[in-house]
Amino acid sequence: MPAEIIDGKAIAAELRAKIANESARIAGNTGRKPGLAVVLVGEDPASQVYVRNKHKAAIEAGFNSFETIFPADISEKSLISELNKLNDNSEVDGILVQLPLPAHISSDIVINTINPAKDVDGFHPLNSGKLFNGRRDGFLPCTPLGCLYLLKRTISKGLAGKNAVVIGRSNIVGKPMAALLLSEDCTVTITHSKTRNLAEITANADILVSATGKPEFVKKEWVKKGAVVIDVGINRVENKLKGDVDFKGACENASFITPVPGGVGPMTIACLMYNTLKAYCKINEIKLELEI
Ligand code: NDP
Repeated sequence: MPAEIIDGKAIAAELRAKIANESARIAGNTGRKPGLAVVLVGEDPASQVYVRNKHKAAIEAGFNSFETIFPADISEKSLISELNKLNDNSEVDGILVQLPLPAHISSDIVINTINPAKDVDGFHPLNSGKLFNGRRDGFLPCTPLGCLYLLKRTISKGLAGKNAVVIGRSNIVGKPMAALLLSEDCTVTITHSKTRNLAEITANADILVSATGKPEFVKKEWVKKGAVVIDVGINRVENKLKGDVDFKGACENASFITPVPGGVGPMTIACLMYNTLKAYCKINEIKLELEI
């Protein structure tokens, strides 16, 4: 039986509708909408598309969206001063700086500048520290959170005890994904470019998450029969988007698989909206009724 497709686009739309309802309910009581500030530095075309999509999603969720665009040659000092203004702005609940940044700006310094209470990307060390301590009261990075949401929806009997393999160990995807799977009681293996016998390791995975940025890197034989495959990769090949996984081949072995596009990508944006609503509720000491 070929794998069933996990329709991230539809699942994300459903989640965003729930967020919009919850946002309307809360804003009706407080008289102020949640506010998301998305900061873009420079004119990278892919980043411009991501920022536009986040702005659109924020408006659809009933939020105020503050698009803050700076030239590529802005100094690190000026960018930090602008971020501090957003930290102090009481209309802004969530701040996201679109990565990558130009080479003369340290992304570490920028991430550390964002008030952890407004860090809706979940990249601040305080929030990643909470995640690695098994706490859920910080902000969880949007892409791994979206992947976990898809996994929970797909594996109805629960994730506990599953062998999970994550390919990639970035701070944005691989590491937080592994921490989230561990918090769900999976037995987790993190792999990377120096891993030996990768295909043997992945062939034991009940859950396989790939985040390498290498098109069609994961082959059919690497996928265990019945595995659930989450493809995070977004790779542009001859003007088409491809994932990290050889989709056609993997479909022959997997039980469920995310497509690219239309899998993880839409979930990332939905989870950003969720984190913004969570930030707003925390700042205003309101109980958020929507758990994901
Ligand atoms: P990074 O480049 O930061 O990390 C890539 C990881 O893959 C590294 O840990 C690297 O290992 C590992 N890797 C590279 N080559 C191999 C190999 N041959 N074997 C095993 N591991 C390997 O990328 P990101 O984590 O930021 O992103 C990964 C992909 O996910 C990209 O395609 C990106 O576009 C996509 N992405 C998609 C999102 C979405 O919303 N769908 C959001 C964020 C990212 P090492 O550490 O040893 O170098």
